Amino acid sequence: METLKLDAIADYENSINVASEILNGGGIVAVPTETVYGLAASAYNDDAIKSIFAAKGRPQDNPLIVHISNLDMLSDIACDIPDVAYQCARAFWPGPFTMVLPKGDKIAESVSGGLKTVAVRFPSDKTICDIIEKSGLPLAAPSANTSGKPSPTTAAHVIDDLDGKINAVVIGGDCMVGVESTVVSLVGEKPRLLRPGAVTPEQLRAILPELIVDDAVLEKLKDGVAAASPGMKYKHYAPNTTAFLVEGCSNSFVSFVNSKENAAAICFEEEYYNVNVPKMSYGSKRDESTLAQNVFSCLRDIDSLNVKEVYIHAPSKDGVGLAVYNRLIRACGFEVIKL
Ligand code: AMP
Ligand code: MG
Repeated sequence: METLKLDAIADYENSINVASEILNGGGIVAVPTETVYGLAASAYNDDAIKSIFAAKGRPQDNPLIVHISNLDMLSDIACDIPDVAYQCARAFWPGPFTMVLPKGDKIAESVSGGLKTVAVRFPSDKTICDIIEKSGLPLAAPSANTSGKPSPTTAAHVIDDLDGKINAVVIGGDCMVGVESTVVSLVGEKPRLLRPGAVTPEQLRAILPELIVDDAVLEKLKDGVAAASPGMKYKHYAPNTTAFLVEGCSNSFVSFVNSKENAAAICFEEEYYNVNVPKMSYGSKRDESTLAQNVFSCLRDIDSLNVKEVYIHAPSKDGVGLAVYNRLIRACGFEVIKL
C-alpha cells in the first residue's frame, strides 16, 4: 500500500482531518506523541488492531496502550476504576504515564492480547490529542517501529520501518521525551512499576507509597516465569551490531573502549573527545532527560558505523536514568560489563 505522508508542520488542520478520517475508516496511522511516535488505530475495531500487529510484526500476546484525550473517556476504556487511579490521573496526566486497569467491554479483544486488563494513557502532545478529539475514537497505539527495533523518535524513523505497510504517517517534530511512557499496574494487591519512563519512581511514590518495582525492569526474566508486562519478555531495541552495556567511571570507560578493535562507543558528552574509536555521544551523564531523548536515535545509527561491536556507557539508574538503563540493557541482551 502507499503510505500517505501528512505534513503536520506545514498543514496541521488538514493532517488532523485526514488522519481522523482514515482512523474512522478502520485504517492505521503513525502519529507523534511526547514519548515516541505511535502507530494508532481505533481501540474499538478489532480488524484495525490486527493490522497494527501485522505491520509491526508484533507478537499477538503483547498488548497495546489505549490513548485518550480527556479524563471522562477513562470509563469507556476501563471498569472498576479505583480511587487511586484518579489520584494518579490528577498527578501525572496529561503526560508520559500509563495505568493498567480492569478492561471495559467496548475495547477490542486484540488490544489486550487476551488479558482481562487494559493499559490507558492521556498524552500531553497536542497532535495525538487533536486526532483523538476529531475522530471521536480512543486510539490503541504501540510504538510505530518494526517489532524488536529501537522505538521511533522522529518521523524519518517511522518511514524507515513502516513505509508501505501503514495507511499514513503524520509528520510532526521530534519527540520531546524520547522513551516510552512509565507503565504502572493498579490491578494487583500492590501497585507495580512494569516499565520505567519519564515519570520516575520517586514521583510515583508520592501517590503510590507501596509501589513495587517489577523484577523485569532491570533483570532478564527467568525461564518459565510469566511476565507481568508481556512486552518485557521480548528482545527489544537492539541494533544489528552486537552491543554491550558498560558500567564504570569515565576514565575506565575511555581506556576500555580505546583498547578495542573493530568497535564503536556510545558515550557521554564529557568523555567524547577522549574516545579514539568511532563514537556517538548521547548527552551529558548529568542530564538523564537528554540521554532519554537521544538513546533510540543512537541505537538506530550505530549500524551505519559498520563495526562488529558497540560499547555503551551505562547511565545512572536515578530519575529518568532508570528508563534509559532499562531500554539499554534490553538493547544489549542483558550483556553488562562492570569495569
Ligand atoms: P508499546 O506499545 O510499544 O509502548 O508497549 C506497550 C507496553 O505496555 C508493553 O510493554 C506491554 O507489555 C505493556 N502493556 C500494555 N497493556 C498491558 C496490560 N494490559 N498489562 C500489562 N502490560 C501491558
Ligand atoms: Mg514498543
